[in-house]
Amino acid sequence: MTDLRPPIDRYNAPYWAGLREQKLRLPRCQACGHLQFPMGPCCSKCLGESFEWIECSGRGTIWSYIVYHHAFHPSLADQVPYNVAEITLEEGPKLISNVVGVPIDELCAGMSVAAYFDRQDDELTLLRFKPQTERA
Ligand SMILES: [Zn+2]
Repeated sequence: MTDLRPPIDRYNAPYWAGLREQKLRLPRCQACGHLQFPMGPCCSKCLGESFEWIECSGRGTIWSYIVYHHAFHPSLADQVPYNVAEITLEEGPKLISNVVGVPIDELCAGMSVAAYFDRQDDELTLLRFKPQTERA
């Protein structure tokens, strides 16, 4: 558990609400169809300002990763060594997360992963990933 809490605003609130429901939802631009991540007031492709929230598969692959041997924040001290990975979602967007449930020396770029909803408390669920053993 970490005491680092994300800033939740009107643009990303549906994302965090989705994670609490064990769903990965991202905003899709209604003008051009671009999946916008990170969320913001407008589409980074066409500057459209209307979005619909869609549920993503949660499946993706590790694009790259690093291993922290020193805690980035004091609240993470008991978690070192830990990884920070860039995940390419099946739907296209890339995001930064952690891959859990696999020894660090078995991590590799290209590994298939699936969303793991890591509940911290009633208000906060974090999106992490686990190795994907089979396709749903
Ligand atoms: Zn757009």
